[in-house]
Amino acid sequence: MSAPDVVVVGAGPNGLAAAVTAARAGLRVLVVEAADRPGGAARTEEVTLPGFRHDLGAAVHPMALASPFFRAFGLADRVPFRTPEASYAHPFDDGTAAIAWRDLDRTASGLGADGPAYRRLLGPLVDRADGVALFTLGPVLRVPRDPATAVRFGLATLDQGGPGWNARWRGREAPALLTGVMAHTVRPMPSLPSAGAGLALAVQAHAVGWPIPVGGTGAIADALVEDLVAHGGRIETGRTVADLRDLPAARATVLDTSVPALLAIAGRRLAPLVRAWLRTVRFGSGVGKVDFALDGPVPWLDPTARTAVTLHLGGPRAAVAAAEHEVARGRVPDRPYVLVAQPSVLDPTRAPQGKHVLWTYTHLPHGSTLDPTALITDAVERLAPGFRDLVLAANARSAADIGAWDANLGGGDIAAGAVTLRQLLARPVPTGDPWHLGDGLYLCSAAAAPGPGVHGQGGHLAARSFLRREFGIAEAPALR
Ligand SMILES: Cc1cc2nc3c(=O)[nH]c(=O)nc-3n(C[C@H](O)[C@H](O)[C@H](O)COP(=O)(O)OP(=O)(O)OC[C@H]3O[C@@H](n4cnc5c(N)ncnc54)[C@H](O)[C@@H]3O)c2cc1C
Repeated sequence: MSAPDVVVVGAGPNGLAAAVTAARAGLRVLVVEAADRPGGAARTEEVTLPGFRHDLGAAVHPMALASPFFRAFGLADRVPFRTPEASYAHPFDDGTAAIAWRDLDRTASGLGADGPAYRRLLGPLVDRADGVALFTLGPVLRVPRDPATAVRFGLATLDQGGPGWNARWRGREAPALLTGVMAHTVRPMPSLPSAGAGLALAVQAHAVGWPIPVGGTGAIADALVEDLVAHGGRIETGRTVADLRDLPAARATVLDTSVPALLAIAGRRLAPLVRAWLRTVRFGSGVGKVDFALDGPVPWLDPTARTAVTLHLGGPRAAVAAAEHEVARGRVPDRPYVLVAQPSVLDPTRAPQGKHVLWTYTHLPHGSTLDPTALITDAVERLAPGFRDLVLAANARSAADIGAWDANLGGGDIAAGAVTLRQLLARPVPTGDPWHLGDGLYLCSAAAAPGPGVHGQGGHLAARSFLRREFGIAEAPALR
């Protein structure tokens, strides 16, 4: 390739989305990736036994199907997805489970006295799910394209993100269901960022569902790589970038990295004010992850939980909130919140016939070196007696291991920067074009707006910014 127009550092979903957008605009694109294969936290590999394919990072993809970038890219036409009827289950110690069905009415009718209140909270947002996706998968500090939906979403966030979050609920199931999704932010609750992220995920659970790609999350990265290469882009793997001087000169240099890595690589080229602001960015708590190879399906006490792909373990709202407070204080909770995905209940390609994979993680203090296997095994066993006997092999990674595996996830922070209100409003800087950092430099990772998730929006929106600013290309290129 002759000198590139655009260099992207990092081949996670956002780096690849930026690269695809630029290549489809007719530019010469080079992507440089530290790992030996592209995909970032969207990789699927055999890490336990032959034939068992595990998602090493992301597993479940409501945001991929709702994402404006992936819709324009036609992801669902390139990668087959399976969507469960039950978006997620929240099992309790008594053997029952609250279920978020894809169908909102069916969900509400399973929530007893809280059904009507759940419907009132989520119904108007589910009716405007596209507007919710536009608002939550874009930069916060921009005039929303659908202000009415943004206002409704804001009011619901205030309702579930403040001290009065229990006021509308009478029973255990509805608040537990919402707390299970809010806890994805790995933050103390109640809080506005947790409520906002949780509601966005819950809305998509009842709109597009919580799907999984056949073959694993790696299929999403593969589709991006294939498209990039087909449009002349090039990827160099096994190359960690430590300094801008390691890279060929280009009109746009786009970092799919963490903020500390951006400062180390390109700090000198940033304006002093931007550099000073970025130095205040903090990582959040971590996760410890265990991938299990199983001899059979998990025997959840609740029969519906056996059909759900995603489960949130941790008990009632107060118990999950208490566990998250412990983690934020740097302690390992006795009864942790555990996120579980059992993709092989819907996708038999993940494991040999009759066998299963189980994807699990729990929240741990930032940088913890604790092996989470015992903690997670106990949590599953309590709700699925007999689980322990099904385990054929397990691959465990502490929070510190996760940070070493993908440099964006420092200390095991899977959000690539704590999801605090400040770091949501200014991700990474408080402007309406938060990817553009000046002098041809851009940040496109989950450390930039709109934040974590396999949606490609950070990369795509960063690309729209550099196409316009550096190359005078105002029109979005066709992505199909
Ligand atoms: C355990 C786990 C579970 C998750 N579950 C889900 C889920 O179910 N659904 C969902 O939507 N999201 C989930 N996520 C979040 C999602 O995977 C990330 O938000 C998403 O991958 C972010 O994409 P990215 O491109 O910004 O960064 P990443 O995917 O982290 O990719 C960044 C890439 O940049 C490379 N890189 C970094 N620094 C350098 C450097 N200096 N030189 C060269 N290369 C570099 C890294 O090696 C990496 O390949 C999960 C993440 C983890 C870790």
